[in-house]
Amino acid sequence: MGDLYSSGLTVNNSCKECQLDLLNHDCGDGPSVFSILILGFSIIPLAIFIEFNFQPPYLFHILLWPLIILSSSIFIIKKIKSFFIFKKYQHH
Ligand SMILES: [Zn+2]
Repeated sequence: MGDLYSSGLTVNNSCKECQLDLLNHDCGDGPSVFSILILGFSIIPLAIFIEFNFQPPYLFHILLWPLIILSSSIFIIKKIKSFFIFKKYQHH
């Protein structure tokens, strides 16, 4: 199985193993929307829970949440984008 992504969230033009053309995939905003929904519903309650129960210094929030949101959104968008592309080529 060839790699789907060349770097970061950039999809390869074609599969290195089976030469499947991946140039015409078009996910649009789909993966981003789902990642916003998933992260919004999980990170915000977590941040509120930690603030109400432990009252950490604000620097804790400023440093922690952007790191978690950035890394997990790239991870989640990759998974969802792969699923969208898989669904598109499943019946070809
Ligand atoms: Zn392939």
